Amino acid sequence: MLKLFNTLTHRVEEFKPLEEGHVGLYSCGPTVYNYVHLGNLRAYLFIDLLKRYLAWRGYQVKHVMNITDVDDKTIRDSSQAGQTLKEFTEHYTALFLQDLEAVNIRLPEVMPKATEHIDEMVAIVKKLLETGHAYRQGDSVYFKISTSDHYGELAQLAGRELKENADQRLNQSDEYEKENVNDFVLWKGWKPEDGDVFWETEIGKGRPGWHIECTAMSMKYLGETFDIHGGGEDLVFPHHTNEIAQSEAYSGKKFVNYWLHNAHLLIEGKKMSKSLGNFFTLRDLQERGYLPILVRIVLLKVHYRQNLNFTFAGLDEAAAIARRFLDALIDLELQTGEAGNQLDIDGLVAGCRDKFVAAMDDDLNISIALAAVMDFLAEVNRQVKKMNAAQAAQVRDFIFEIDQVLGFVRVIYDDYQDRLAKVSADAQVRELVDKRAELKKAKDYAGADAVRAQLSERGVTISDMPGEKYLLRINYP
Ligand SMILES: [Zn+2]
Repeated sequence: MLKLFNTLTHRVEEFKPLEEGHVGLYSCGPTVYNYVHLGNLRAYLFIDLLKRYLAWRGYQVKHVMNITDVDDKTIRDSSQAGQTLKEFTEHYTALFLQDLEAVNIRLPEVMPKATEHIDEMVAIVKKLLETGHAYRQGDSVYFKISTSDHYGELAQLAGRELKENADQRLNQSDEYEKENVNDFVLWKGWKPEDGDVFWETEIGKGRPGWHIECTAMSMKYLGETFDIHGGGEDLVFPHHTNEIAQSEAYSGKKFVNYWLHNAHLLIEGKKMSKSLGNFFTLRDLQERGYLPILVRIVLLKVHYRQNLNFTFAGLDEAAAIARRFLDALIDLELQTGEAGNQLDIDGLVAGCRDKFVAAMDDDLNISIALAAVMDFLAEVNRQVKKMNAAQAAQVRDFIFEIDQVLGFVRVIYDDYQDRLAKVSADAQVRELVDKRAELKKAKDYAGADAVRAQLSERGVTISDMPGEKYLLRINYP
């Protein structure tokens, strides 16, 4: 039974989707005006893990993630770059998708852009005006939180205080972290600094606020009530709090059944901040020579509700984990015998599967789940030389099956094989391998060992196999 921690109820609850076997999932996507940093990436990887596990559990998941391609920052920065809003945001959207691919995040089923859903947003704001949940102030429209019965429940805010403050102050900024608790903007009237970025609509000339985007696009693709909404915990207030208020005021129905939030990311024990210069992007780490898939391992292996401390030592640990999977797979492939034996491979695989499922069912406890898999690899390592081909294949298939959830083993394996193929085809490496074979034939073992050392300097390990065959391995990652 899958259980998830629901921010709305502050409890771990059994997960029951609205429609059996199906899950509607919405997560807040990027504002496309720069590169995503590791903190953002953790949130996307958390959603990816959730999706993969739900799919592995047999659910059909429909995941929607928005692209925020209009707001103060995109308007400001596109104009500074001398580009149209569309050119500017398309550029950063493409870079964002490259980053997702680099860490093997499965793309959402739907990735709606805010600028392509203005009509839907306008229709919602119009109804909120008609029903008295919203009011005009100047050319803008604001949501009146005093009309919301449960405002602030998600963030466990003191409702009465909020309501008392509700109508006193207005804030027209998209920089919500600066906002005090008060009414929030649904539609922003056009101002000269917006330039040519505006829509002429029934509710006036202007553009949408940020919160209304997520309500309009999630409801359009998932319905007025859906199963799971996720994101980083920094979005609980005000963004998700406001999404709930406006959505439920609009539909009269419960908006979302399960709210899931991942905790913060620290860098080497410190909060990410501009002044510390530790806003690392994936590209920064690639430039330092780290494989992006190692970043996936680092950001994935800590339970999503714990603060995660990203360190460079952690990347090295991830490399060690990658190598253990790789070595297990290579060793398993070398088992070609057919002899029977006393090994209980069914029991070994079933034991690991049970532990993996129990941990993941417990609010996606990936740390425990991954530890169970690492223990399993250690046991495989003890038994592998005694396995016959069928048993080795069974273990290998299981590793790749688990990787449907982990999402890094296949990437590492394929990358390794590509690199190994290139190294094996390298003329100098082949020359050394042939030379070693000749020296061995001539029983010049000291000479053969010297060549082995030369290969080793190139990161290539050669080992002899039965029937004058040999196996090459390369240093990785
Ligand atoms: Zn959102």
